Amino acid sequence: MRLGVSRTDDHNTIRAAARAWVTANVPEAWHAASVGGRAAIRAVRPRSDYEAWYPTFADSGMAVATWPVAYGGLDLTVEQAKAIEDVIGPLNLGRLNPLGLHNAAPPLFAFGTEEQRLRFLPPIVRNEERWCQLFSEPGAGSDLASLSMKAELDGDEWVLSGQKVWSTWAHHSEFAICLARTDPDAPKRRGISYFLVDLRAPGVDVRELRHMGGEVDFNEVWLDEVRVPAFNLVGYVHDGWRVAGATLAGERQMVAGSGSGGVDRIGGSGADRLLATYRELGIDHPVTRDHLMRLHAEEHIRQSTNARVRATVKAGGTPGPGASIGKVHQGRLNQQLQLAACELSGMEAIAWEGDWLDDMPYATKGMIRSRANTIEGGTTEVNKNVLGEQVLGLPREPDPYHGVAWKETPR
Ligand SMILES: Cc1cc2nc3c(=O)[nH]c(=O)nc-3n(C[C@H](O)[C@H](O)[C@H](O)COP(=O)(O)OP(=O)(O)OC[C@H]3O[C@@H](n4cnc5c(N)ncnc54)[C@H](O)[C@@H]3O)c2cc1C
Repeated sequence: MRLGVSRTDDHNTIRAAARAWVTANVPEAWHAASVGGRAAIRAVRPRSDYEAWYPTFADSGMAVATWPVAYGGLDLTVEQAKAIEDVIGPLNLGRLNPLGLHNAAPPLFAFGTEEQRLRFLPPIVRNEERWCQLFSEPGAGSDLASLSMKAELDGDEWVLSGQKVWSTWAHHSEFAICLARTDPDAPKRRGISYFLVDLRAPGVDVRELRHMGGEVDFNEVWLDEVRVPAFNLVGYVHDGWRVAGATLAGERQMVAGSGSGGVDRIGGSGADRLLATYRELGIDHPVTRDHLMRLHAEEHIRQSTNARVRATVKAGGTPGPGASIGKVHQGRLNQQLQLAACELSGMEAIAWEGDWLDDMPYATKGMIRSRANTIEGGTTEVNKNVLGEQVLGLPREPDPYHGVAWKETPR
């Protein structure tokens, strides 16, 4: 049931409506567990239960409170949406379908047609169509614009062929945003188009990749003459690089935590958790305390950077280099936080009884996963290049193939 609030309501009215909705719709056991924090909620709320219940939350409009009502939101301001967060934050009602919300939706808002938004956004919000991102290729990661996947127009359909890699959650997704080359005669950034691909179409082959934590998070995806309706092209033909900019900015914000529902919400404050563990274990050591306080202070700095990015976006600006600063900082900081969590756990973090994967301690999983933070969503080195050029005014990286047709460039 949609929350009965609008832009004319004050924050108290919105908070009261959200509280009433929570009382009526959130299962009592989850509510009761929330006093014990996220770990207590996780203990009574298996992911499958949360996924089954999620449409109830999505239908309230609170999952995307600032989006227009027609796309599944409540049309509230960012400030009003914060009043909702005050109520649902402690219940840890995380948004499902993050790549749909943060990677697919921004370009639809910025470059899509109204028909495309009405077709694709509501199922993203309800988690009925889950999304992944088909950008990286074996020969195109940091230098994404050199990508080779081919797209040719045949009547009113595009035919896509090629290979993508590192495609997070493709094995659980119904749709993908996908970059493909539509003009090999143009310089590399000018011959790319942006497509929405139905992964259930004939010719799609998703192959799972197991990462060093032992789990399957990402995949190789092969497209063999996959037919994509012309309706699913976002923006103009050959102009996909500009459209991809909206996705990459949304992704950087998500990874840095400056987008709504970022790491601050999903993972909780890492330093706060560490300090709580430090107290619970009864450790009293000046060097450890100093280290944790440094991490705590750094986390506040990162949160301030994220708040600045959010304020810029709210004022109608683009996230700009601030998103890269947050991304670089968050990657390094999270690795330090996760490592510190393992150090606090002591031997438990490196040796445990039972299955090495199923029984792996939470801290160890977090530490292993955090190694990817400086790679995913653009590497730290590449983001530093962006900052060097856009913030420090350093010379651009030389590109000996500037202006040369993509098909003439070495790959
Ligand atoms: C957990 C995870 C999830 C991911 N999910 C997705 C996804 O869902 N969809 C998707 O499309 N991709 C995804 N990726 C891929 C990711 O975007 C790429 O790994 C990333 O852009 C780097 O590309 P690469 O791996 O090809 O490394 P390369 O580009 O080959 O880089 C190798 C090394 O060289 C450095 N380097 C490269 N160019 C420069 C330069 N110009 N200056 C300085 N140093 C440079 C890099 O920093 C890096 O250290 C994911 C990656 C990870 C780790």
